[in-house]
Amino acid sequence: MTPRSAASFFVFLILSVALLAAFAAGVRTASSEEPALAQPSVAACRPTDFRVVLDVGHTADVPGAISAHGIPEYVFNMRLAADVKDALVKAGFDKTVLLVTDQAPPLGLFERAWSANKLNADLFVSIHHDSVPDYLLQSWEYAGHQEHYNDDFPGYAIFISNENAERAASLAFGHLLGKALQAQGLAYTPHYTLPLMRHRRRQLIDADAGVYRYDALVVLQRTRMPAVLLEAGSIVNRTEELDMATPERRGRISTAFVSAVTEFCASRALARRNHRMRRLASPDFAPRHRLGIR
Ligand SMILES: [Zn+2]
Repeated sequence: MTPRSAASFFVFLILSVALLAAFAAGVRTASSEEPALAQPSVAACRPTDFRVVLDVGHTADVPGAISAHGIPEYVFNMRLAADVKDALVKAGFDKTVLLVTDQAPPLGLFERAWSANKLNADLFVSIHHDSVPDYLLQSWEYAGHQEHYNDDFPGYAIFISNENAERAASLAFGHLLGKALQAQGLAYTPHYTLPLMRHRRRQLIDADAGVYRYDALVVLQRTRMPAVLLEAGSIVNRTEELDMATPERRGRISTAFVSAVTEFCASRALARRNHRMRRLASPDFAPRHRLGIR
């Protein structure tokens, strides 16, 4: 080593040590002042790098619940998911994918999760509209047809699975989505906790935002990214169904999605940055390792 290259080497060494000390100080500040998902700067999110998969619940042939006015749930799911996708794309989340499946369950459910995994999604949301068990339905006549309704349980409900690979992040997104829906004047339904739901009772794990636990949902269990299922509202409720059919209601839900996804994307970016800084500041990542000194 010449005197000149030795001098350069020591300047490099000193700068590297100073840089690592600065990183370590940053990590200490971050960990003492903020929990992992607290109020991240939205600027940290790069929407164009963040892929949301919007899964349209059910299929054209097996269309889910039938509304109080005789319309299949699949029609509502498709319309809402398309509007949410448009709103996310407009907000810069241009990698958002609408997942439409022809394959009926149970195979179709596994196919949805497989598709989301293959797409390397950052977030998976399955879009549904709610009904009630058959024994809670009443009959009425609408447009000359016998239809079924239940007016008791309006509101949205969000589900996560504890068996999802990213359980904590799924709950964090569920919370953000629930609070964003509430900011749009919507409320969740608490009826999944009631004994009348029998084996369909669910544990309310976030009573503030309306997030329930439903471990066995295949699309949440088999996806490798944060995943939630949204029941956007009850279509067997005669009033709420009419509201759910309006562009105005879908617009409020879409606005809530943009807000929740933006915040979630930022929190994920911040968590990744903190993770990188912790690695750089850890004793295993010593300057001698970086400089190749044995
Ligand atoms: Zn459904």
